[in-house]
Amino acid sequence: MAISSLSSPSGARVSSVTVKNKVLKTPCFFLPTSRGTVPHLTPDNVEEFDIPALYVGLEDCLDRLEASPILTNEGTIKKWIAAPSVQPTLLAPRRTSPLPSVSAGQSHINIVTASGAKKLTNDLYIKAVLKLCPELVIPLNDTPTSPPGVKRKPKIVERSVNWTTELLLALKATDAFNTTKVFFPVPDLDTQYLTPIFQFFQENQLANNIAGLAFSNNVNPLPADLVGLPRLSIQKFESPLEILKCIQRGIDIIVPDMITQATDAGVALTFSFPPPSKDVLNSKIELGLDMWDERFATDMEPLQSGCVCKTCRRYKRAYVRHLLQARELVAWILLQLHNVYAFTAFFQGIRASIQEGNFDEDVRKFEEIYMTSFPASHGFGPRKRGYQMDLTNVQPVENKPAWISMKSPLEKEIANEYEALKVTERKEDTQDYNEPELHNSNDPTVDLYADTYATQAATESDSELEDALFSQLDEFDDTAYREQRLEMLKKEFARVEAAKEKGHMQFLTVENEREVMDFTLSSKKVVIHFYHPDFIRCKIIDSHLEKIAKVHWETKFIRIEAANAPFLVVKLGLKVLPAVLCYVNSQLVDKIIGFADLGNKDDFETSLLEFRLLKSSAIDRLKEESSSNKSIYHDELQNNQSDDSDFFE
Ligand SMILES: [Zn+2]
Repeated sequence: MAISSLSSPSGARVSSVTVKNKVLKTPCFFLPTSRGTVPHLTPDNVEEFDIPALYVGLEDCLDRLEASPILTNEGTIKKWIAAPSVQPTLLAPRRTSPLPSVSAGQSHINIVTASGAKKLTNDLYIKAVLKLCPELVIPLNDTPTSPPGVKRKPKIVERSVNWTTELLLALKATDAFNTTKVFFPVPDLDTQYLTPIFQFFQENQLANNIAGLAFSNNVNPLPADLVGLPRLSIQKFESPLEILKCIQRGIDIIVPDMITQATDAGVALTFSFPPPSKDVLNSKIELGLDMWDERFATDMEPLQSGCVCKTCRRYKRAYVRHLLQARELVAWILLQLHNVYAFTAFFQGIRASIQEGNFDEDVRKFEEIYMTSFPASHGFGPRKRGYQMDLTNVQPVENKPAWISMKSPLEKEIANEYEALKVTERKEDTQDYNEPELHNSNDPTVDLYADTYATQAATESDSELEDALFSQLDEFDDTAYREQRLEMLKKEFARVEAAKEKGHMQFLTVENEREVMDFTLSSKKVVIHFYHPDFIRCKIIDSHLEKIAKVHWETKFIRIEAANAPFLVVKLGLKVLPAVLCYVNSQLVDKIIGFADLGNKDDFETSLLEFRLLKSSAIDRLKEESSSNKSIYHDELQNNQSDDSDFFE
């Protein structure tokens, strides 16, 4: 692969890159995939487009790390994603515009898979590259999702060099050295930090096998011997103008998310390059048409006049709008066919313009003529994919396993008896720990209160709840008995009301440390989460505490951003986040720092945290019920207790 360029004064250049006998003319774009597929398109349609290369983020296919089907099944990446054999693929550790993840370590990065955050080590990544044989690969790289600190910057560069060297050595030891080409990941840092990379190219023999440079954002000034290498950018672009400016800075290949984003929003891309001449214009032209718009309801034009894509040759705007209105999936297929085609034409125009020497002038005109952003999305898109969802709030599965009903009648009977036995054991085990007020009576109304409260408190207003409870009491005839119960319920109600008034039962975010200190004085039990807004593990703690707060209203749950509590952070010696601190009667009784005490993994059960809080008496034991569980973590809690003898001493 080599670049022989013809450039514009600004730095845009045309050239060609040879990837496994296929000549790619640059500037060009690689099409991002989601879990290996180009969203909305079948492989035969992708083949017809003759896309320069498909970008595959390995994290999309690595739900179970080394046990993931992409690695355990036979065959290369092309077999896995059903790409045509002539279609080049680029493998990268992460998808384009990845979700933020925790900082990398010395030999791993953190990825976000469909089943949660995972550690991807360089060893596993190299194993995947050797197995999948992509034509192009970006080595593992530590690309921070927020601006890195001074200490981290040299580490990022060091890791880029080390991990790339390890990959090159592994490739060299196999036949893959000639078929898999490496794009060196250049971190988005000031040139002063990049010296180790420039040294690598000067001193290391392996540098001869580097096929290009992969930039995450800016193109840094490069030494003369690196200028000839093809440059790829995985930057996120918001508009075609940003792409043009990026090409002016000397980028040869981009990986735009914009195409699928426009399609998902129901937008047909209609910009072209070079732009149409200005004399026919009064106002700025739209970059795309929002096909949800009513003005297209009877419009019998193709999506873009003059377009010869599969969609525009046969279908009209009115029909595409009709399909969108009906949420018919073929609407997004037709839009994607057009949008990918429009992008192909856009890049043909860019190359022609650079060759003719008009590029900088054409970019200026483009900026003058077109609007700067796409029409706003309506929010009615096709079904969301995993990477678009917030994975930190996934609810645990609550359904009972179905398999038990498929057993033979005898097995079923045994299973039922066993279940019944477990329930009785549980009741006997834990009686001593029950809430005294609620336990000292077998009165059904008190149980009723607890049940109703647990299920309805969050949704119903207080007066409705009160009415419902008291109306149940009308069923009891004995007046004295009734009054006694009524009195008891009222007391209980007052207690809950008082708790609510203090802000219990909800997970509160406070802004300053003064408030935190006030809460530790005014509430008997307080649990405080010191968090960082960008840390995934803090979000995980939040989701668990939120659930616990709803059930344990005897305790006040608050969270504060560590940056807003400088005094407390120093005083309490907090160096690692998330940090959960528990106060009882204004005394610090427990500190839970990081995940070390929570199994050191991201997918621990809420019950584990609940149990820990219980042990430090930051929360009270929940009242036991045989018929229905007040807490969904009930079962795990029982198991954990039997493992931990301390609790019973
Ligand atoms: Zn079209």
